[in-house]
Amino acid sequence: MEKASKIFVAGANGMVGSAIVRELQKNGYENLLLPNSKALDLRNQEAVAAFFEKNKPEYVFLAAAKVGGIYANNTYPAEFLYDNMMIQNNVIHHAYLNNVKKLLFLGSSCIYPKFAQQPINENSLLTDTLEPTNEAYAIAKISGVEMCKFYKKQYGCQFISAMPTNLYGINDNFNIENSHVLPALLRKFVEAKNKNEKNVTVWGTGTPLREFLYVDDLAEACLFLMLHYNEESTINVGTGVEISIKELAETIKEKVGFKGELVFDTTKPDGTPRKLLDVSKINNLGWKHKIDLNDGIQKTIDWLHQTNFSSFK
Ligand code: GDP
Repeated sequence: MEKASKIFVAGANGMVGSAIVRELQKNGYENLLLPNSKALDLRNQEAVAAFFEKNKPEYVFLAAAKVGGIYANNTYPAEFLYDNMMIQNNVIHHAYLNNVKKLLFLGSSCIYPKFAQQPINENSLLTDTLEPTNEAYAIAKISGVEMCKFYKKQYGCQFISAMPTNLYGINDNFNIENSHVLPALLRKFVEAKNKNEKNVTVWGTGTPLREFLYVDDLAEACLFLMLHYNEESTINVGTGVEISIKELAETIKEKVGFKGELVFDTTKPDGTPRKLLDVSKINNLGWKHKIDLNDGIQKTIDWLHQTNFSSFK
């Protein structure tokens, strides 16, 4: 990829896409195609076909997806399956038809089996059944990963995929019902502090273990993989460090300065008990995360202050 290459970042307004755009710009890539979802509905095949024919991107970062936390995934499975399959089918297929030189597709760590051996190695994909709360999303993402593999196999396309762990950071979704645990808890603690409330409710038992990666680290890994990774197999991107939901809640509570108590709502699902990625493959290639959880949470809090908490609205 040259500095002048034409690069399409699909999903450029989302948390991941916007971080990839910042990373590309920081590294001198300026020829970027960044249509928003109003200008280009990626679920619409004709619109995507016309976009590729007109603009002829040379490289594609496919960071567009319908994403959400455990509640949203569990409640709207049809939308998670349909929207994601449409987006990725359209973008990957038209990248092939228009001779895109390389494409990076982003999956998610929830595509691995519910009881995969931990830390989860790339080879455990499709070896057992999935976690039911995010099965529809996982099925869509698995088909995207497999699509990249088979377009490479049949057509020789340089289409690769990466599997990020749970992500968080600036431009995240802070909606209480639809968001992932980290932004949801950040918001709950900030609002509880401002309103002088006594408790903050944490869903589930607090015992599940999760791994969290700051989105700027993911963006750096995406550029690294675009430049250096060509294998058919997907590759995990994470920190290799896990924390229980209870410890996460306590960390955020302290950072926000909330003095009240945690209450666990066990009527809400826990989801998969543990989800830690084996990141030895990407580490061995020479990439490692830089921002630990404490720093990442602080960066996110600082950004929330800078934006006057506008994403809470
Ligand atoms: P998952 O990693 O796919 O399970 O998705 P989430 O990030 O939504 O949830 C991770 C874990 O955090 C689950 O065990 C949730 O029950 C728990 N959790 C605790 N409080 C919250 C909350 O306020 N919002 C969300 N989304 N999850 C929460």
